[in-house]
Amino acid sequence: MIEAIPTAIDTSTAQAATADAAAAEKKHAHEMNKLSKRLHRQVGQAIGDFNMIEDGDKVMVCVSGGKDSYSLLDILINLRERAPIKFDIVAVNLDQKQPGFPEDILPAYLKSRGVDFHIEEQDTYSIVKRLVPEGKTTCSLCSRLRRGILYRVAGELGATKIALGHHRDDIVTTLMLNMFFGSRMKGMPPKLVSDDGKNVVIRPLAYVKESDLERWAEHREFPIIPCNLCGSQPNLQRATVKAMLQDWDKRFPGRVDNMFTAMGNIVTSHMLDRHLFPFETIKATGAPVTDGDIAFDEEENCGTTAASGSVIRLVRDDDQE
Ligand code: SF4
Repeated sequence: MIEAIPTAIDTSTAQAATADAAAAEKKHAHEMNKLSKRLHRQVGQAIGDFNMIEDGDKVMVCVSGGKDSYSLLDILINLRERAPIKFDIVAVNLDQKQPGFPEDILPAYLKSRGVDFHIEEQDTYSIVKRLVPEGKTTCSLCSRLRRGILYRVAGELGATKIALGHHRDDIVTTLMLNMFFGSRMKGMPPKLVSDDGKNVVIRPLAYVKESDLERWAEHREFPIIPCNLCGSQPNLQRATVKAMLQDWDKRFPGRVDNMFTAMGNIVTSHMLDRHLFPFETIKATGAPVTDGDIAFDEEENCGTTAASGSVIRLVRDDDQE
């Protein structure tokens, strides 16, 4: 009898542990289901808002082997199955011949997804190493070469759109960098003609938070290829601005959402760009003007009220899932 007591305790402890594990698994599955719905809805919304993909398009999805481009491809494949329009997807990876690049990983993954793909092998690594002096940043030449190659490949494959995996945080970070170091209010467009004028570049992850992509990549177990194979120093300015935004968002939840929403709510009369608003010719008409100057009143929303807008609703409506 004395020995039976610990056995009973062991059994109930084991049962409790099993129940906890089952509850944790259920909770995780529920969270991943919510995340999946949110990601697919936000990508679908961005595609619709900016008319990114049209019937008959061939979308070249640039896949680097990082979490963002894997997620982009994954979500586009899923959306294509339920889309009311027909479009093709071709995944393209540029193998830049960086030392240690695991060249089998992406083809194996892409085959497993049953998606058309093309691996373009171009030794830009050697070119960059040869042309850029030791200790200088290699990214600018490297990305220029990559861009040219991908534009050419898009033409050869008959792609009508080039899809890139930049997300909401990339867009806000770019806006900050351009303000801080370029004195321009310029972000990253969700859709724009490429600088060679021959391609339309789209960013279907424009409404998606980076943290959601991190969780999605982990959940989907994408075979991530490390992004430091070239041995280049990380872009310190970008890393600093990114850390600043992450810190703000932690201390003031919703701040990055608001900044992102603001990029779609520009009041040109309250900026200083004379090309966007005809300051020289304005005259008082005597009729009230929406967005007219409120002169001596305090500015609205000075830290007390959250701005409203469709995008902010998009990225915060988890409760509906
Ligand atoms: S980090 Fe490396 S691969 Fe990426 S752009 Fe810079 S040099 Fe090129």
